[in-house]
Amino acid sequence: MPIINSVTGPIDSSQLGLTLTHEHLRVRTVEVATQFPHLYDQSKELQLAKEQVRAAGNAGIRTICDPTVMGQDRDIAFIREVSECTGVTIIAATGMYTCQNLPEPLRNKSIDYIAELFIRDIEVGIQNTDIKAGFIKCATDVQGVTPDVEKIIRAAARAHMRTGVPIMTHTHAASRNGLDQLDLLEDEGVSARAVIIGHSGDTCDMDYLSRLLNRQAYLGIDRFGLSVGMINEERPAMLLKLIQNGYHKQLLISQDYCGTIDWWEREEVQSFAPDWSMTHITSDVLPYLSSQGVGQDILAEIMADNVRDWFEHAMK
Ligand SMILES: [Zn+2]
Repeated sequence: MPIINSVTGPIDSSQLGLTLTHEHLRVRTVEVATQFPHLYDQSKELQLAKEQVRAAGNAGIRTICDPTVMGQDRDIAFIREVSECTGVTIIAATGMYTCQNLPEPLRNKSIDYIAELFIRDIEVGIQNTDIKAGFIKCATDVQGVTPDVEKIIRAAARAHMRTGVPIMTHTHAASRNGLDQLDLLEDEGVSARAVIIGHSGDTCDMDYLSRLLNRQAYLGIDRFGLSVGMINEERPAMLLKLIQNGYHKQLLISQDYCGTIDWWEREEVQSFAPDWSMTHITSDVLPYLSSQGVGQDILAEIMADNVRDWFEHAMK
């Protein structure tokens, strides 16, 4: 059984249980937060993150993967405090959320230099703590695979090849760039079975999704509650179609919820995404799938077995 790094220490993959694979405790914009800290209320942010994670825990969720990394102001002490306070296991990420350019200090560094940053997070600890990263995040968006994005993806691949830690991506599904990510990752020797192509639920393009699935990648259908790429009401039906097509062993579902995010005012979020929360899946999506005849065994695979398989495939 592979040992996975959670923010409260190593766990065995059999301990994952029901897992949300893509939720953020907090997303902040570091330039704004460090220069204008009066705009932020850390104790309120902590309280809201704890409330959401505790509610997920009460709904049966045992583990949350939080892919907040550089570009989203990852704060590992914040994440650990929420995990310790709620009793929900949280697995933190290393990697970079950069869709265009690397920041200046890294622009002229090599792929291996960037890979070493990720490996340090995995083997030594994040932000000068002993809290280790459990997976690697990289991103491609509407800009496509820019030269810097390619460097980050190849660095993620090299860090995976050294450590066995799996990879989760951010994509712009309408641009079909999960395929470009797989091309680069496979070129570096990564098995697609170690990769979740994130935000794959933002499109109804079954040709694109079938190509990813037939290459054995996992799909992150991970924005339930949000109308990004498609309206939220369409997501459950699209997930049902993938299950009915026999792909349930490669699907991971989540909400991409942010306990707080400084891109919008809280009231704005509540108006454009009223159902968005860390319990939308357990409260609404799973009951919908049951009502459509999806058996409990398949739901258990999607919520628990697949994430374990992702870690185990990657780490063997
Ligand atoms: Zn996200």
